[in-house]
Amino acid sequence: MVESDNKSTIDTVQVALRIRPLMQLETDRGCDECIEVVPGQPQVQIKDLAFTYNHVFPQHITQQEFYDTAVKSLIGKLFQGYNVTILAYGQTGSGKTYTMGTNYSGSDGDSTKLGVIPQAVADIFDFIETHEDKFIFKVNVSFMELYQEQCYDLLSGKERGHSIIEIREDINKGVILPGITELPVTSTMETMMVLERGSSGRVTGSTAMNQASSRSHAVFTIVIYKESRTDKNIATTSKFHLVDLAGSERIKKTKASGERLKEGVKINQGLLALGNVISALGDGTNRSFISYRDSKLTRLLQDSLGGNSLTLMVACVSPADYNLDETVSTLRYADRARRIRNKPIINQD
Ligand code: ADP
Repeated sequence: MVESDNKSTIDTVQVALRIRPLMQLETDRGCDECIEVVPGQPQVQIKDLAFTYNHVFPQHITQQEFYDTAVKSLIGKLFQGYNVTILAYGQTGSGKTYTMGTNYSGSDGDSTKLGVIPQAVADIFDFIETHEDKFIFKVNVSFMELYQEQCYDLLSGKERGHSIIEIREDINKGVILPGITELPVTSTMETMMVLERGSSGRVTGSTAMNQASSRSHAVFTIVIYKESRTDKNIATTSKFHLVDLAGSERIKKTKASGERLKEGVKINQGLLALGNVISALGDGTNRSFISYRDSKLTRLLQDSLGGNSLTLMVACVSPADYNLDETVSTLRYADRARRIRNKPIINQD
């Protein structure tokens, strides 16, 4: 495992690259690996290109190692009042859902396969348990899906057509989603059941690349309210967004047409807008000039990107030469995000 040497400060945006192992299907097809990790450095080489990130996780890294290195410290930040957003970016089949753990039942009860969400939720409730003598905590979760520039409430229990949610901005409260289902949760198990319920309602579709590829962005949000037992005025509310982005593959490669093509165009717009926002933050552009309004995805995340927020982008790639072009495109996208070095926050842990 390779880590950055940045121990005393953390960047407001961090980028982790995760390379999944070659799949059996790829080995059967005679694929070779086309990406190499530079020993001792958070750097990869591909063709004649080199990219450096905050962390690089090679093929053999376990879910636990990934979580401990890239995510665990962010949980403490949530309880200090920061908003935290984790975004998984990459082409379909690159390991986004596996890494995020959005499909909880996919881990088949095998704890070594648990992704970021179940591990983070367990840490959140561990923290609460050990601090309950001093603070009152309230945890609410919501789960939504952005599909074709529409925002759907995955927990509403209503038919899809009746679960559309509007995104509004409130001068005091920031982004608000009137009518969204927010469920109070008090344990890891309860939270995972909610995640599971929402996941079963997601839109999936078949492309030439993956039988059950996800064509929508899934946003699981945990809102944590913390109040001092001795002084009501000492209170924080933090939003934790865990985002499994839709596949980033270019439309040409998916051989999409009709409805799938329309989806692809909308997905690419959202990802492009996200890339532009992240890149503008990195350029030091004043937040009031950043074009959050270009997509539903960036509108939804606007008070969680920049400002008092920490963002971890996890770029997921396949090592197979067959995916070389898509892998390079993901590496470039992540590289744009990586350039953000504005306002490092002093790490008090
Ligand atoms: P995506 O969400 O990007 O479409 P998935 O997370 O569904 O991709 O991953 C595609 C396949 O690769 C799944 O079968 C998943 O279990 C497997 N996979 C992904 N990353 C890893 C990893 N780091 N280790 C082992 N298997 C992985």
